[in-house]
Amino acid sequence: MHRTILLVYTGGTIGMKQDPDTLALKPFNFNQILEEVPELRKFGCKIDTYSFDPLIDSSDVQPDFWIRLTSLIKENYEKYDGFVILHGTDTMSFTASALSFMFENLAKPVVLTGSQLPIGMLRTDGKENLISSIEIASAAGPDGRPMVPEVCIYFESQLYRGNRTTKYNAENFRAFRSANCPVLADVGIHIKYDRSLIRYPQDWDAPLRVFQNLDTNVAILKIFPGITPEVIDAILNMEGLRGVVLETFGSGNAPTADWFVERIKDAVHRGLVVLNVTQCHAGKVDMDAYATGVALKQEGVISGFDSTTEAAVTKMFFALGQSNSSDKVKELLQSNLRGEISI
Ligand code: ASP
Repeated sequence: MHRTILLVYTGGTIGMKQDPDTLALKPFNFNQILEEVPELRKFGCKIDTYSFDPLIDSSDVQPDFWIRLTSLIKENYEKYDGFVILHGTDTMSFTASALSFMFENLAKPVVLTGSQLPIGMLRTDGKENLISSIEIASAAGPDGRPMVPEVCIYFESQLYRGNRTTKYNAENFRAFRSANCPVLADVGIHIKYDRSLIRYPQDWDAPLRVFQNLDTNVAILKIFPGITPEVIDAILNMEGLRGVVLETFGSGNAPTADWFVERIKDAVHRGLVVLNVTQCHAGKVDMDAYATGVALKQEGVISGFDSTTEAAVTKMFFALGQSNSSDKVKELLQSNLRGEISI
């Protein structure tokens, strides 16, 4: 029996080609993907396509888009063995993180990919990204179950857990990095899956749940030497604000000046959930390591451990959407829900 894949095009560079007259990049009719990538005919699996209308540059991604995407996957969940989502690279890590939280009991692969050069260009990285993504989404393990039943990003011969990634290079073909979590698969002559790392469901038959209630009353507060009380006040006093991702220095450190600590303390006492993530690209928050971190912890700031900012923000949307109680939200944020933190 052929495996079946739903290939979804949402927009982004990968689905573009050069207009021969103007040389400008424009999206091609995705239903004609087989003409652009005839290699897809050689797959032993059945590939259906779905194209978003309108197509969006991923810089325009909003939570509504995640709701549409999760609904589409949910509606087609029984019909397909796996899903490949073509998405612009700019916010792909946010979408992958959001999707990972919005799905519970996911038992099928959802592989996001894209490219740095359009698929219609000679030196494109899009073809390999697309072809390997389909291969991964349709791969089965020795037990016949999907090999990678997670929300992942495949890019430039590496398969990442989606909620561990960050786009870190605007030009290089290797656009993503997953500094705190090894790759789920390395693609060379063979696709080498790391089955000890891939998350498999405890109950393969548990029904897929989709959480679409996202509360976006969240701000990112990135501290820097020279930050003023006015900046902090403007953010922490925003109307309706419920959560703050505090991007701190090193292992979770922030200024110890009274004016700073008092403002954070006041925010926490007002019920704001303040989640500490590091500005460093690798490593984790440890608020016990320095006095500058201890002060935050004492005021009720919670640790984001080794979370990326993308995962922290989208997890906050998800957690705030689950409960009005700050304690419950904090409990969710401190739990490893989808492999997004190493605890
Ligand atoms: N701006 C594009 C996007 O994110 C870039 C890309 O596709 O890689 O949609």
